Amino acid sequence: MFENTPRRRSRQVRIGHVAVGGDAPIMVQSMTNTDTEDVPGTIAQVAALARAGSEVVRITVNTMEAARAVPKIRSGLDAMGVSVPLVGDFHFNGHKLLTEVPDCAMALAKLRINPGNVGHGSKRDDQFGAMIEAAIKFDKPVRIGVNWGSLDPELIARMMDENAGLAMPKDADEVMREALIVSALESAAKAEELGLAGDKIILSCKVSAVQDLIAVYRNLAKRCDYPLHLGLTEAGMGSKGIVASTAALSVLLQEGIGDTIRISLTPEPNGDRTREVIVGQEILQTMGLRSFTPMVAACPGCGRTTSTYFQELAEKIQSYLRNQMPVWKTRFPGVEEMHVAVMGCVVNGPGESKLADIGISLPGSGERPVAPVYIDGEKAVTLKGDHIAEEFQALVDDYVQRTYAPGVERRTKSRREEIPIKAIA
Ligand code: SF4
Repeated sequence: MFENTPRRRSRQVRIGHVAVGGDAPIMVQSMTNTDTEDVPGTIAQVAALARAGSEVVRITVNTMEAARAVPKIRSGLDAMGVSVPLVGDFHFNGHKLLTEVPDCAMALAKLRINPGNVGHGSKRDDQFGAMIEAAIKFDKPVRIGVNWGSLDPELIARMMDENAGLAMPKDADEVMREALIVSALESAAKAEELGLAGDKIILSCKVSAVQDLIAVYRNLAKRCDYPLHLGLTEAGMGSKGIVASTAALSVLLQEGIGDTIRISLTPEPNGDRTREVIVGQEILQTMGLRSFTPMVAACPGCGRTTSTYFQELAEKIQSYLRNQMPVWKTRFPGVEEMHVAVMGCVVNGPGESKLADIGISLPGSGERPVAPVYIDGEKAVTLKGDHIAEEFQALVDDYVQRTYAPGVERRTKSRREEIPIKAIA
């Protein structure tokens, strides 16, 4: 197995029943885009995000009605058996909402405070203090979440002035990056002075450019031991958002930086909000940091494949595996580490299939219309005819039951760790 840099040491914070930081696994979280005042709509989306694997879900709390909706959303979720902790996202009026609607604070498992959006001048300290007081009173952790787009203007002005007075002033970008970190650290220090315990604080400093994010978090990671929430803010839509988030987060995660992640994807119109959860899980799983669902290795296809049949099979199997996980993860512990291969022809098909726990090599153009299936590295059966997809799915089901049922002795390493590549060539 490849080695990552050991995880940066951090305190551990509890968000409801979920632990973040310390030796807890890197946690995947998400955020709704429903109007929080729409109680049924928000319950439905939180439940969908939780079903997709989001371990914590954040909701906007921006109006008095939204604050009053929070306890109803919590009880609606509880009634459905969805226990995912809820985080309230507060800007501008959080002090008022948390003071006037105590049930809102009680129903939340964490408060997110953006120090750039808690008020200006003399009101700033009082309003920040009121939010921290609510966190202490209701025993809730806080994420101090600084964002490049809403950095405290008074802090920037102060740091720009100090920089201008230096013999060798730094460039403006460097001062901005430092201002993000100072905002987070000074706010955390202030929260501790007000009485919030150090193990109730998580920090984030989000920016929208990959290299800035890496530079900011490397620096922040050295200067504190609070757990860090990673995310590229405003990552964008589609492949751009996924690639940019993956590029930034994988560098930091490889260096052991980051205790929880959120992928800020803009959904396509009518797109599925749960995509951000799946992308977050896939980043962690493909890096070997956590396992969530069996992975399908599929070839890209080329001129040797004459139809889209194998693409459809790969897609079908991937969706099937993901959809089974809510049940499988309780019935078949360890199944999330299973590797499945769906390959398009004889060139790499048998090799990749032998490396997987279970794999199928479909016939390419000009090949005999048969599909050998490999189980635990051995050719087990050859499928042919019109029902290859259904028969392969049945073989996957059978493999899962035989291999991951409680009491079955399993390998402690995956086949990929066990088998040197040359052994299958
Ligand atoms: S396995 Fe075969 S079909 Fe798939 S990309 Fe390679 S050569 Fe093409």
